Amino acid sequence: MLQEFTGAQRIAYFSMEIALAHDIPTYAGGLGVLAGDTLRSAADLALPMVGVTLASRAGYFLQKIDSLGRQIELPQMWDPAVHASPAAAKVAVQIERRRVWVGAWVYRIEGLAGDCIPVLLLDTDLPENNVEDREITHFLYGKDSAYRLKQEIVLGVGGIRMLRALGFQIRKHHLNEGHSALLAMELLNRHKYPQRDLRPGESPYDAPAVRSLCIFTTHTPVEAGQDQFDYAMVERVADGDFMDMSEVRKLAGEDRLNMTRLALNLSDYVNGVAKSHAEVSQRMFPGYEMHAITNGVHPHTWTSEFFATLYDNRMPGWRHEPEQLVRIEQVPDQAIWDAHANAKQRLLDRVKEMTGRALDPSQPIFGFARRMTAYKRPDLIFSDLERLRAIAKQRPFQLIMAGKAHPNDEGGKHLIEQLHLHIRELADDLPVVFLPGYDMLMALDLVSGVDVWLNTPLRPLEASGTSGMKAAFNGVPSLSVLDGWWLEGCVEGVTGWAVGTAEICCEADDQQDFYSKLENKVLPLYYGDRAGWIAVMKGAIGKNAAVFNTHRMIRRYATEAYM
Ligand SMILES: *Cc1c(COP(=O)(O)O)cnc(C)c1O
Repeated sequence: MLQEFTGAQRIAYFSMEIALAHDIPTYAGGLGVLAGDTLRSAADLALPMVGVTLASRAGYFLQKIDSLGRQIELPQMWDPAVHASPAAAKVAVQIERRRVWVGAWVYRIEGLAGDCIPVLLLDTDLPENNVEDREITHFLYGKDSAYRLKQEIVLGVGGIRMLRALGFQIRKHHLNEGHSALLAMELLNRHKYPQRDLRPGESPYDAPAVRSLCIFTTHTPVEAGQDQFDYAMVERVADGDFMDMSEVRKLAGEDRLNMTRLALNLSDYVNGVAKSHAEVSQRMFPGYEMHAITNGVHPHTWTSEFFATLYDNRMPGWRHEPEQLVRIEQVPDQAIWDAHANAKQRLLDRVKEMTGRALDPSQPIFGFARRMTAYKRPDLIFSDLERLRAIAKQRPFQLIMAGKAHPNDEGGKHLIEQLHLHIRELADDLPVVFLPGYDMLMALDLVSGVDVWLNTPLRPLEASGTSGMKAAFNGVPSLSVLDGWWLEGCVEGVTGWAVGTAEICCEADDQQDFYSKLENKVLPLYYGDRAGWIAVMKGAIGKNAAVFNTHRMIRRYATEAYM
C-alpha cells in the first residue's frame, strides 16, 4: 500500500501537531496549522515529503464557555479509522522500562495535480499495551511533563523506527519545533564509530553525520516556552534502549534536558519563522547560525470560495503560483467588494446561528482570534473603555473574538473571563461577540468575513503569527502591532496599518496608537472612501498574500535546507 511512497527519497517532517482538516482535531493552533499548510504546499508542488505526528485520539480539547465566561474543556475524540488507513507495521519503544508498542495510520494529503503526501499518525492505543500506555497518544499537550516526554519519545524515536519499518527512504529530517528532537538521539545511535577506531575518551557518536540529516525550525522566542525536562524524571521515564545519558547531557544541557538545545546541537540548518524572530533567537542562542524563512499559509485552504472563484477567473494558476496575485490591480473594485460582501454575510449567518446575535453588514467588523494567552494581549482593545465607546459612538463598528486557552494556562483562562465582562459592560455601545470552539473552519469564516484583522501581541513574543496572512488572501487588511511577520508585511496605509513602532519598549504607547489609528485612519477610510478602502484590500492581496504563503516558504526550504 505504501509502495508508491517508498520508491524514492523523501523529506520527513516531524511535528507534535499537524492540522490535517478542521474535523480532525490533531492540532492546537498556529504550529499545527503551519505544519498542515507546509505539507499541503508540498503536495501541490510535488515535493516528496512524509509527515510524522501523533494520532491525538482525544484531540486538543473542545471548548465551551459557561454563562460566567469560564472555559470548559471536553475531550474531542476522533476515530483515525474513518479518515486514514492502518499501516502494516508496529514498532516498540522503551518507556519506564516497559516495551510500548506503536502503530500508525496513514493519512493522505492530495495535491493540486494529484501528487500525494502521506502523513503517519503514531498510535499507542493498541491491545498489546497496558491501559496507561494506550493513552500516550490521546491528549495533545495534555497532562504533566512526564506524559509530554513519553509523547516525545513516541514521536521522535517511534517515528524514526516506524519510517524504517515501513520502508521509507529519508533524505533529511525536518524538526518542526523541538518536540521531536529525540529523533536525533535515535539517529545518533545509528551513527556510531566502531569501538576499535576510538581513542580513549573520544565520543563514539558521529554527530556531524546526524547534523547533516537534520533541519530545525524554532518557533518560540522565550526560553520558558521551550520544552525542558528534569533529568531525574528523564532517567525514570526514558532510560532504556536509546538514551546514552552522558551524551544527552552534553547535547541538551547539564541541568535540564532542553529540547531546543538538543535540536540546535544536532541540526546543520536552523531557522526562525520570520526575520525578527531569527534575530531574537540568534541573541538567545549565540554561537549557532540562525537563518530566517518567514512563514506562510496555504493559498486555497485559506481563501474563501468567493475569492477563490474570483482568482480562478481572473488569475488562473494562482493556486500553484500565488505570486500571480500581484495582478490583483486589474480586477474591478466591484468584484472585490462583492466577493467580500458574500464572505461577510456567511460569517454573520454563522454568528447568528451560534449566538442568536444579528450583526449589521453595513458596519465594519474587526476580528481577533488566536490562542488566548497573556502575551497575545486580547485585552489591549479594552484597556480604555471610555475611549472605545467614544470612538464607536462617532463611527460604529463591531468586534468578533475567538480563541482557546491552554487548560494549564490560568492567565489565559482568566483573560477569557475578562473579555466576557467587557462584552457585558459594552453591551449598549459596541457589539462584541465571543465565539467558542475556535478551529480551522471558524478561522476561515473569520479571516474572510471580517473587514479588519487585529493582532496586538507584546513584542517580540509573536514569532511570526499567521492568521493575518490568511486574512490577506481574502482581501482583509491587518491593524497590528509591528512584530513577527507584520514587520515584513506592513506597508502603512497600503497593506494595512501598524500599531506602535518596531521598538521594544512601550506598552502604553501601543494602546494609544491603537485607538488613534482606529479613530483617525481606519474608520474614516471605511466610511468615507470606498475606493481608498478597496485599494487597501488589494494591497493586502497583491503585496501580502502573493508573498506570505507556504508555496514560497517550502520552495525556500527545498533550495536552502533540503537539497
Ligand atoms: C491560523 C490559526 C492559528 C494561528 O494564528 P496566529 O495568528 O498565528 O496566532 C491558531 N488557531 C487556528 C485554528 C488557526 O487557524
